[in-house]
Amino acid sequence: MPINTATDPAFAWQETALCAQAGPEFFFPAPGSSTREAKQLCNACEGRQACLEYALDNDERFGVWGGLSEKERERLRRVGREQA
Ligand code: SF4
Repeated sequence: MPINTATDPAFAWQETALCAQAGPEFFFPAPGSSTREAKQLCNACEGRQACLEYALDNDERFGVWGGLSEKERERLRRVGREQA
């Protein structure tokens, strides 16, 4: 079901998502490709923290979210579990 970002403040970060201006291949690069440019865009995105939290909460497995690759998010999840 599509999310209505205009009425749900939890998804307001999507309104200013810089990645919306880039192609999907930019944020979902082929395995082994660089994620550096996507991460640079994330670093300039004002919704970065909310985006990362969304990806972690929803167990997004692919692509760059909130400036982190899937491997970096997995590492963050593991550290969180070990500290819980
Ligand atoms: S932090 Fe990166 S992936 Fe998330 S909305 Fe911004 S540009 Fe897109």
